[in-house]
Amino acid sequence: GSLQRVYNFSAGPAVLPAEVVRTVQEELPSYRRSGMSIMEISHRSSLFTDLQETAETDLRKLMQIPDNYDVLFLQGGGTLQFAMTAMNLAVKTKRVGFIDSGHWAQRAMEETALVKGTKAVVIASSKNQKYTQLPKIEPITGQFDYLHLTVNNTIEGTMYHQIPAELKKFPLVGDLSSIILGYNYQVTDFDLIYAGAQKNIGPAGLTVVILKHELLQNAPELPAMLSYPKQVQKHSALNTPPVFAIYVAGLVFKWLLAQGGVAAMQEKNEQKAQLLYAEIENSKLFKSPVAVEDRSLTNIPFVTGSAQLNQLFVAEAQAVGLLNLKGHRSVGGMRASLYNAMPLAGVKRLVEFMQEFERQHGG
Ligand code: PLP
Repeated sequence: GSLQRVYNFSAGPAVLPAEVVRTVQEELPSYRRSGMSIMEISHRSSLFTDLQETAETDLRKLMQIPDNYDVLFLQGGGTLQFAMTAMNLAVKTKRVGFIDSGHWAQRAMEETALVKGTKAVVIASSKNQKYTQLPKIEPITGQFDYLHLTVNNTIEGTMYHQIPAELKKFPLVGDLSSIILGYNYQVTDFDLIYAGAQKNIGPAGLTVVILKHELLQNAPELPAMLSYPKQVQKHSALNTPPVFAIYVAGLVFKWLLAQGGVAAMQEKNEQKAQLLYAEIENSKLFKSPVAVEDRSLTNIPFVTGSAQLNQLFVAEAQAVGLLNLKGHRSVGGMRASLYNAMPLAGVKRLVEFMQEFERQHGG
């Protein structure tokens, strides 16, 4: 049967490519003629190890991941990485420098500070601007085991279009949760990248970690699930991995390759974002709270001047199949997340709806 689809603008869990959802549906009863669903196969079988190997190979192709980086498929979300990075990497000075660019940077800082003996130090912040712009980064003095950067700020709608050179003078950890595979970042700008899957990769329950192999040398002895070296040694399967989530991620990687890879996605994402930002700029009703030069391609907050109108907008949009446009409670208003799987047609429909709404309710 055909799937009833809407346009889902959620920040995560987020829209998946319709083709991928259809493939999952078709393959669900019997994965590769095994007579078992993907959820039933053994993670020690070649059915799974082949699948995982292919997923890793495709991800390496997509992101041009060099051989001296390991790829891990872990659990625990971006949130576990806030602490796991510190447990493994904050081992010499035990100081970690943070770019305080918003909600998720703050959460990362808090978790890092909870790792015993570790100090989380703010080296730049745009808190005083309510995170409507990226922090200005001055020359960094002091000793740090690494710096942490939230590359795309999912809630506030800002992103680094380029990684500031000053940050590259230190080992750099990047949270790419809401922009991975959507913009052509250089893996080699980072020593470690992590991303929860549920925005631009696949279902929740999978976290992708990409890390420079040499980082493993200094990691202390840790419980296995929290140890990068032990996870690398066991190819992310030291316990039962999230097989279904890795399977869907693999399908998404194939889909991305067929679309032309990350460069092609970036181009499409720029086109989609441009369309929405142009509407916001041309409108008298809608405004973006975010500084023009720092605007995200994937998470786009916008507001009217009235909380009541914002609420009405979200409700009326939902009634016509434009879902999950309510902004995060800390920012208010609306937010449209335009990840890779959001088609241009969805953004066009949203823009049309905004214009209709403005005709009816604009001053
Ligand atoms: N980092 C960023 C940038 C996010 O947007 C999120 C979730 O929205 C997280 C981390 C937390 O991710 P998780 O729910 O996978 O722990």
